[in-house]
Amino acid sequence: MTERIGFVGVGTMGKLMAINLLKRHYQVTAFDLDPAPVEELLEFGAEKAASSAEAAAAGQVVITMLPSSPHVEEAVLGLGGVLEGMRPGSVLIDMSTIDPLVSKRVAEQVTARGFRMLDAPVSGGSVGARDATLTIMVGGPKDLFDECKPVLEAMGKNVIHCGDNGMGEVVKVVNNLMAGVGLAVTAEAYNIGMRLGADPKVLYDVISKSSGRCWAHDINHPIPGVIPASPANDDYTPGFMVDLMRKDLGLAISAAQGVKAPAILAAVAEQMYGSASNMGLGRRDMSAVVKAIEALSGPGGDAD
Ligand code: NAD
Repeated sequence: MTERIGFVGVGTMGKLMAINLLKRHYQVTAFDLDPAPVEELLEFGAEKAASSAEAAAAGQVVITMLPSSPHVEEAVLGLGGVLEGMRPGSVLIDMSTIDPLVSKRVAEQVTARGFRMLDAPVSGGSVGARDATLTIMVGGPKDLFDECKPVLEAMGKNVIHCGDNGMGEVVKVVNNLMAGVGLAVTAEAYNIGMRLGADPKVLYDVISKSSGRCWAHDINHPIPGVIPASPANDDYTPGFMVDLMRKDLGLAISAAQGVKAPAILAAVAEQMYGSASNMGLGRRDMSAVVKAIEALSGPGGDAD
């Protein structure tokens, strides 16, 4: 593998991941529709490209880190896209969270043109991206996974092969369904407990040693002041935004429909994050879903 990597999409996550590549002595050529984060990367030694195609042409590996399925389709398959710039032997690693079926379709088109592709979505948020501690779930041929592992290990701590193209996205969507529902139910349960008079710190003390415990409860608690460091303590500064969790629950629901599996809890949680988004909280941390639950609650006191 050559040392230069094209990077398309250097937003919240992509910029921090590109910085880690630069710190580990890869060269990076970056492109984003928004020029501001690309300019910031220049200070870390990156070069800028004028299009996705130009970023892809800069090296043998091109990484995309984009919001969702339509963005990946446009940036890879569209005019001036990655596919136009890829060179013989090049590899595309799409690290965005997108619909597994779209990911498979993009991989088919990339492969049909004689190139290779991995899907490699991540978990761990902006802190994991900054500290290079992301969990990276990889779909695609095992030999290609082995070849690309050093690049992925420059950005993540747990790099796991999940199966063929699209399987990284399947695992990611399943994980985020669990994380999204877990957080929503934590918010709902605490709202009930607190309205019944329980001290949230007492609830935390007990539940963190009991069966209600989950990731949201341990790490991303929705009630301010319950744990030492959480987005809730900082006015729900993300973290992982409400709108991204809403999107990921939508991906889970549509993937479930494709295999005729129920996604009942995912659908309810998607509505809860949607309500938070409608309240203007879409760009706040996903734990702000508790605000939607509080808004739906009555004035308090005993029910008639
Ligand atoms: P973001 O919106 O901050 O960044 C995306 C970037 O892509 C933006 O800078 C945007 O300008 C750029 N972009 C959009 N369309 C483009 C195109 N056609 N060509 C070039 N650039 C384009 O999003 P993010 O938070 O960095 O998330 C990226 C992906 O990672 C998403 O799929 C998200 O679900 C996933 N993810 C995010 C987090 C998190 O904590 N933010 C955690 C895990 C996974």
